[in-house]
Amino acid sequence: MRQFNEYLGTLPYRIKIVIGGNHEIGFNNLTREYIQKHILTNAIYLQDNSLRVQLPEHKSLLFYGTPWTTSHNMGFSMSRDSIFEKWEAIPDDTDVLITHLPPQGYLDLASGTTEGVCKVCGESNHPYNKHWGEAKLKQKTKYLCEHGRLKLHLFGHVHEECSGIKVKVTRTKTLMYYNGSADCGSSQARVPHAITLSL
Ligand SMILES: [Zn+2]
Ligand SMILES: [Zn+2]
Repeated sequence: MRQFNEYLGTLPYRIKIVIGGNHEIGFNNLTREYIQKHILTNAIYLQDNSLRVQLPEHKSLLFYGTPWTTSHNMGFSMSRDSIFEKWEAIPDDTDVLITHLPPQGYLDLASGTTEGVCKVCGESNHPYNKHWGEAKLKQKTKYLCEHGRLKLHLFGHVHEECSGIKVKVTRTKTLMYYNGSADCGSSQARVPHAITLSL
């Protein structure tokens, strides 16, 4: 983690935001304030809180980050029955949501078995893959897009599907879902993903 923080310090960007995930087991007994002050000093560390970034022409973007997943006994692990509480806490005026877990059905296919027709996506062509994403997280992102300002949902966790898709949520509103995981099987694994957002 010290090396990662040093690496963050070398990146030339104005604002760097980091969230945790299920591999940050060492963060479980630390507070957000401690992690920010002593570990991730070269970035803004979000853990169930937000950051407002001011832009030119009096515009701004509200970023909200939350690390929780339905993994068992890892970092930020929660049960499938109670994880929705973390999604309920996402502010209504969030522009960019950052979670570790994907929303169910979007860029979330990883190891596991789905027999017959998949109950999530209705397809029958992924028998050796399972949706790792979370259903209520998807509901929440669509709600925040339709009734609020959500434009972009960034997540990771599923390294098999690192790319982005645009989903039309209403007649006039589109939400971009982007899985920014490193493509571990590729020589491009460490090439940064760049996303342009029009305001
Ligand atoms: Zn499916
Ligand atoms: Zn993960």
